[in-house]
Amino acid sequence: MTADASTLADVTGIAAEYARLVAEAARATKRQQDLQAKRPDRGDTEAYAAHKELENAATEAVYEADDAVDAYLGEHPDAVPVYGAARRWLDLGVCTVPVKNDGSKRPIGEWKEYQERLPTSDELFGWHHRGGSGLGIVTGRTGREDGLAIEMFELEARAVSEGILDKFTDALKEAGLWEVWLRITAGFWDVSPSGGFHAYWYCEDVTGNVKLAQREATPEELVIKPGDKYRTLIETRGRGGFTVIAPTPGSYHETGRAWEAQGGPPEALAIITAEQREGIFTCVCCGAPLFASDSKFESGTGWPSFYKPMSDDAVAEHEDRSFLMRRTEVRCARCDAHLGHVFPDGPKPTGQRYCMNGVALDFKPGGKPKETPSR
Ligand SMILES: [Zn+2]
Repeated sequence: MTADASTLADVTGIAAEYARLVAEAARATKRQQDLQAKRPDRGDTEAYAAHKELENAATEAVYEADDAVDAYLGEHPDAVPVYGAARRWLDLGVCTVPVKNDGSKRPIGEWKEYQERLPTSDELFGWHHRGGSGLGIVTGRTGREDGLAIEMFELEARAVSEGILDKFTDALKEAGLWEVWLRITAGFWDVSPSGGFHAYWYCEDVTGNVKLAQREATPEELVIKPGDKYRTLIETRGRGGFTVIAPTPGSYHETGRAWEAQGGPPEALAIITAEQREGIFTCVCCGAPLFASDSKFESGTGWPSFYKPMSDDAVAEHEDRSFLMRRTEVRCARCDAHLGHVFPDGPKPTGQRYCMNGVALDFKPGGKPKETPSR
């Protein structure tokens, strides 16, 4: 999932091919309309019949060109980045809805039902297939099998510009929550066009939106909105919440700036639960500590996945040529038990994905993970 040069080149190739097919479909439609405009008089039976045949062929070409556009996008969802992202969130059981392109930052149409259910694949395709929509995420319930909810944390643009981010990070460190914060920011977060900070994570319980920090409105702010005595600096979006999310482009915001994705991919969202916050995964054979829960991420594969081991010497890596492909096998460094494999497509900060066999690991809750040397 790391955006190295080759994946970027790939995405550009996909987008270019999609644009070519869309242009071809537009040309086919134009040909069809031109022919319709030049239809001869019905009295000239022969000319009329010949022209009608041309028109039918042109109509057929329009259908074919449209089908080619849809088929290509079905195979390459990232050709329309908003659609690719919506598909990825849907695979993770997270609900997204389309957003109006009028600066209102509101969903298109009625969206209340999506607080209760996920969109279908067909709905997503219908919303986004010609790229005519931004992307919004519905926070709160998900369709995950473990029933976890998704919550969004927002540091308003004014909080960032007024230096509240530094105060906030100091408070996190004092409260012993710095590691949790690092896990959250290793997952997906984005920056809004006005400079706000939005981070997302899974958690067990989620209430409605909660205001976490406010200040009194300045005299200038009161001129604009006299009724609001306070301005929010930090808040969360929980049950039934909604927010616009990257990769929504700049045309959807009054500033003309886009929502910019940061951190890891959606697959790397942290799970913040009492158990996941602190704990160590050990070798089921010999009990050696192998991975700390703070390096665990949701890979979407169903396998426990980590971006780094507890320490450089906790696991040993071996080249594995079985099944005619080259993989790197991971074994317990102490007892040589097979644990799984490591792939170079993990999230930040290491870019590694230690994809482990769940039955090879034991979980020891409560043990505060030690600081581990970075790789
Ligand atoms: Zn072992």
